[in-house]
This record gives sequence, C-alpha cells and structure tokens, in this order.
Amino acid sequence: MDVPASHPRKESLETRHKIVEGIEQGITSTCGLIAHGRGEAFDYLIGEQTIPPADKAIHAAVSKLLQAKHPVLSVNGNVAVLVPEEYIALGKALNAPLEINLFYRTPERMKSIEKLLHSKGCECLLTGEDARIGVESERRKIDSQGQAKADVILVPLEDGDRTEALKRAGKYVITIDLNPLSRTARQADITIVDNITRAVPLMIKYAEQSAKQQTFNNKENLEETLEYIKRRLNGRIFD
Ligand code: ATP
Repeated sequence: MDVPASHPRKESLETRHKIVEGIEQGITSTCGLIAHGRGEAFDYLIGEQTIPPADKAIHAAVSKLLQAKHPVLSVNGNVAVLVPEEYIALGKALNAPLEINLFYRTPERMKSIEKLLHSKGCECLLTGEDARIGVESERRKIDSQGQAKADVILVPLEDGDRTEALKRAGKYVITIDLNPLSRTARQADITIVDNITRAVPLMIKYAEQSAKQQTFNNKENLEETLEYIKRRLNGRIFD
C-alpha cells in the first residue's frame, strides 16, 4: 500500500497493511489481525517508543538467550510478516534456530511461512510436530529438536495458555507483548513490553554487543511499565 510520505501515521498504516497482505498470502490469520489491533492500542499508551523498562527487559532477554544451551525463537504468522529479516538476523546473532508455531496451524499456512522465511535467507528453520506441550489443539505441536529440548524460548505475541504450558514444561520463557496485563506478560520470565518492530532490531544490536547479565524481576518491570502508562495518562509525560 502506498501511504503518502506526509501522512502522520505512515509507519503504523504500513505495518498494519503488512498484516493484511499476510492474510492475502495465507500467512497471517484473521485473528492475527485482531491481535495486531490490540497491540496497536497498547502501543499508543506507551507513546509508540521503547520505554525504559522495555529497554531493561531487552537487555536481560538477550543476555539470557546468549547464555542458553538450546535457545529457540518461535515464529507465528504476525512475526513472519512484521519482522522476517530482523528475526532471521536475531537467530543468527544468538545462534538459535527459528521454529514455526501456529495457533491456527494448517499445512498450507506452515508451508507459506516456511517459503517466506526461506526466501529471506533463513537457514535454520524447524517445522516438526513430533513432540507435544500441554495445551489443547494444534498449538500443542512442537519440534523435538526445537522447543521440546529448548531451555530458553522467545515466544513473541503468544497466548496465555501456551505460555503457561511452556512454563509447566520447565522452560524459561521470554515474550514480546505490548499488553503488560496479558496472561502471557504476567506468566513469562521476561516480558518485553514493546512493539516487535522496535524490539527485535534492538535485540540484534545488544546481541552483537554481547549484553551482560542483568538482575531482572519481571513483576517489578511490569509495574514500572504500568506506572509509566499511568503517568502518561495523567498528562505528565509528553513527547
Ligand atoms: P493472553 O492469552 O496472554 O492474555 P491474548 O488473549 O491477548 O493474550 P493473543 O491474542 O494471542 O493473546 O495476543 C497476542 C498479544 O500480542 C496481544 O497481547 C497483543 O497486545 C500483542 N501484540 C500484537 N501485536 C504486537 C506487536 N506488533 N508487538 C508486540 N506485541 C503485539
């Protein structure tokens, strides 16, 4: 879609359109469109910028992923259309495979995402479904060489049930989720409350700088995020 350069919400509209095109290409689900809208609403609340608690969470996440024995980066339809090149670059920087996991898993969608990521140069992509985690439906399928043996998993834009199941399976879970109140945000070990389009490039930068270990408390970090939003809503923070 051609959004005029002068449009004040050009970036946001172009991002939104990527999701719409993803639906047309069989990559994103229609529910992915709704999830994106929810994300956009929370992005307004933080001023569409990486706020200090998110930056802290990004540092801690990269440090944990660099120390992991078997880190895995989960990909869904929204992630694949929003940040394909960046996510592949992050996998390379962290020496971690990407694994496709879909809420609405069909062979066609799996193939479309695989094709997209391969066309962007992804060399380490897992798509197997020979292992399970404790949720109902297609979302339970995971790769025995990927999430099943992973110690640290990045699951951006994930739903609460699956996050809970990964935690029950003993995984260290890192998420990127603009909603600091979601079940995923509250259950993960590290929640990056930021737009994936801003967070992943920063993760690559910090991985290249070999981010050092940080002390990190997810509950405190989410509270700082909510405090930030409250101050904004009270009109005490203006861009
Ligand atoms: P939960 O089950 O964890 O309470 P949910 O029901 O909202 O969450 P989904 O609909 O799968 O689960 O949520 C996807 C999450 O991804 C939402 O919380 C949404 O705010 C977030 N999200 C959507 N787009 C982006 C984005 N571009 N960057 C970061 N987060 C996003």
